[in-house]
Amino acid sequence: VLDGVDLVVVGAGLYGLTVAQQAAERARARVLVIDVRGHIGGNAYSSMDERTGAEIHRYGAHLFHTSNPRVWDYVNRFTSFTRYTHRVYTTHRGEVYPLPINLGTINQFFHAHYTPRQAKELIAGQAGELAGSDPSNLNDKGVSLIGRPLYEAFIKNYTAKQWDTDPADLPAGIIKRLPVRFDYDNRYFKDTWEGLPVDGYTAWMRRMAADPLIRVQLDTDFFDASQPVNRDAVVGRVPVVYTGPVDRYFDYALGDLKWRTVDFDEVRYPEADHYGCPVMNFADPDTPYTRAIEFKNFNPERRSSQNPGETVVWRESSRAAGRGDEPYYPVNTAADRALYHRYAAKAGEEPGVVFGGRLGTYAYYDMHQVINSALVAYDKRIHPMLTRTDGQ
Ligand code: FAD
Ligand code: UDP
Repeated sequence: VLDGVDLVVVGAGLYGLTVAQQAAERARARVLVIDVRGHIGGNAYSSMDERTGAEIHRYGAHLFHTSNPRVWDYVNRFTSFTRYTHRVYTTHRGEVYPLPINLGTINQFFHAHYTPRQAKELIAGQAGELAGSDPSNLNDKGVSLIGRPLYEAFIKNYTAKQWDTDPADLPAGIIKRLPVRFDYDNRYFKDTWEGLPVDGYTAWMRRMAADPLIRVQLDTDFFDASQPVNRDAVVGRVPVVYTGPVDRYFDYALGDLKWRTVDFDEVRYPEADHYGCPVMNFADPDTPYTRAIEFKNFNPERRSSQNPGETVVWRESSRAAGRGDEPYYPVNTAADRALYHRYAAKAGEEPGVVFGGRLGTYAYYDMHQVINSALVAYDKRIHPMLTRTDGQ
């Protein structure tokens, strides 16, 4: 079964596809990519909704952004990007505010007309003893950045819905994803480049896998011993890149890593535009969902091919992931990190297996970070495995 295969890649997400593409192009390796799902693209997969003309991101909204020139050049080989700039709004006590927290949010919240300097002084006062410090947990980091009243209005309850974990136990990195600005700039990301793939995520991914040296086999579970390309048959015989959950690979021998999953609840409205923006967050605890995604509004350049009489919205609610659920967000408390490090030590001893991606390394990675880590792992670890000439 492994005749004619130089590399097995488990997972047709962005990590697996980047490795497969590089291996085919740079080592002329024959790559077999398997995925348990019936499509490529991993969590970035999308498909068209015929009724509305909206591109639905099937595993949650995906916006591409990066400041890494190597990643930007690399992705532009497979797709062009629209001029989309991500902007998010949030509803709090019956009022809509711009995110991320910026001078517009601050002045609306305090019914004021603070200048940047005045707003900074106000926030520093409201952050109290945490002002200017660099705490390592989400709660203290959030308060230090925006002060207590704004933290309690916009972060505390949303975070409780999203993570159901005491924010004092969550890493500060989660909140550091969001900029805080003392001007009226409400771009959600601070990266140099951003946009959406012009003809959709799936067309982009297909072009990554187009090399004839790459074969993709879908609906194939690496742990299903009844199919030929499974862990026990392959590991140690052919180099493997594994992008599934690291604890699953080891049959959960050390325990389960904690993840959050998301339930999507679809609502259709008989109108052109329901929210007037692509993403509306809900900051308050009485709204059970965290945010609503109105997919049509990601692609205003496609208006003429969208249905003006209907729009589709997905509301997201987060909950603890069980083994049968899609793992989406690593919870990453100190206890989780410790458990992950024990798994990572085992992973380091697996012969000829490279663990990568969001699931394989238990990391809250965005797409550009996944692509970058795949390119680096390819250079440092995978290319040498594919091109060694010592016969081993
Ligand atoms: P995945 O895309 O998860 O791919 C892993 C693949 O492995 C999957 O296809 C899975 O089916 C397969 N697999 C798992 N187990 C097995 C097995 N046993 N056998 C065979 N195949 C298996 N990033 C951004 O940059 N911008 C965003 O706006 C953004 N929004 C996001 C929103 C949500 C809700 C989520 C969950 C993530 C978001 N991300 C975003 C992150 C982005 O999805 C990831 O960075 C990226 O898609 C991860 O790629 P990956 O290849 O590591 O993993
Ligand atoms: N967050 C929040 N309120 C918001 C938006 C974000 O409290 O309105 C916090 C929350 O803890 C969230 C984190 O900031 O998990 C990161 O937000 P982001 O929008 O980057 O999350 P993602 O798109 O990855 O779900």
